[in-house]
Amino acid sequence: MGLVMLMRVLVTGGAGFIGSCLCEELVKRCCEVSILDNFSSGSRSNVQHLLDAGSHRVRLFVGDCTKRDDLVRALEGVDVVFHFAANPEVRLELSDPETCFRQNVYATHVVLEAVRNSRVKKIVFASTSTVYGDARVVPTPEDYAPLEPISVYGASKLASEALITAYAHSYGFAALILRFANVVGSKSGHGVIFDFVRKLRENPRELEILGDGTQTKSYLYIDDCVSAVLTAFECMRGRVEVLNVGSEDQVGVREIAEIVVEEMRLKGVGFRLTGGVDGGRGWVGDVKNMLLDVTKLKAKGWKPKYNSKEAVRQTTRQITT
Ligand code: NAD
Repeated sequence: MGLVMLMRVLVTGGAGFIGSCLCEELVKRCCEVSILDNFSSGSRSNVQHLLDAGSHRVRLFVGDCTKRDDLVRALEGVDVVFHFAANPEVRLELSDPETCFRQNVYATHVVLEAVRNSRVKKIVFASTSTVYGDARVVPTPEDYAPLEPISVYGASKLASEALITAYAHSYGFAALILRFANVVGSKSGHGVIFDFVRKLRENPRELEILGDGTQTKSYLYIDDCVSAVLTAFECMRGRVEVLNVGSEDQVGVREIAEIVVEEMRLKGVGFRLTGGVDGGRGWVGDVKNMLLDVTKLKAKGWKPKYNSKEAVRQTTRQITT
């Protein structure tokens, strides 16, 4: 079962897609789980089954990571924090820089202030592949430099990483920074699969694909993501550790469109590429070619069960049936 048993943890963003799946696994491992979520993109329904089944071990705090008092309440008796709350929207037109700063950088600062005044000894942070920007080395290793994010979202996560690193060194706790590739699964409420399914339900004859169609990225199935988080946590060492979390291959956006069409059993769907912006990107800040080097994580004994294509197919099947 592993070392994670019997801890008292706080999962910020625990009512979201990845956070709620992580909570499920932590409860299975007999942890006491507190959840702090403001339901901005997550929902009570993601965790209701946990509250019903293990009410003595799961506590839900409806509150906000930008509010110190909400954190102090939620941190009572907690040893470990998984800081997964964020505005997860990479697309600038769907989320402005101010929101990104407040929900990601400022919220992380407030979390860290509360952590340093508590008994918490470890913090795990959900960061992202977008901190690498348009990396010239693909698969991209953790020590790739310079880190030049091309989205405000990526920048906000990199700034949060920097704050976490400095606080860990200054205030005597350990930090694990996990840079996730695209994580997919049935509870995800955003991203390319969700977008394609929604568009095809509206118009089953034509699918608009953002960009020039050459975007190629790595997709990780949610179960593999959760097992990666827990493996990395169990093997955590040093003051600050940074690890990539992703599948070992990529899938192109056109191929994703084909998989979604096939799984929705649609025939004769025309693909309409928008052409994109800034050299064919789907949106401003879209990284066109993303694959993470996961050698470090694999050396800890983790291996994904699904490749990118299987992750996309599995997720599409779950949301369409
Ligand atoms: P999500 O939107 O489903 O989860 C985020 C959760 O945080 C939601 O439940 C939301 O209500 C909550 N939240 C947001 N701001 C909050 C605040 N100020 N106070 C309290 N709660 C707040 O997104 P997700 O896909 O599950 O992402 C989880 C984490 O992983 C995020 O930090 C995201 O940036 C990161 N991440 C996700 C992916 C991915 O592909 N899904 C990739 C890289 C990194």
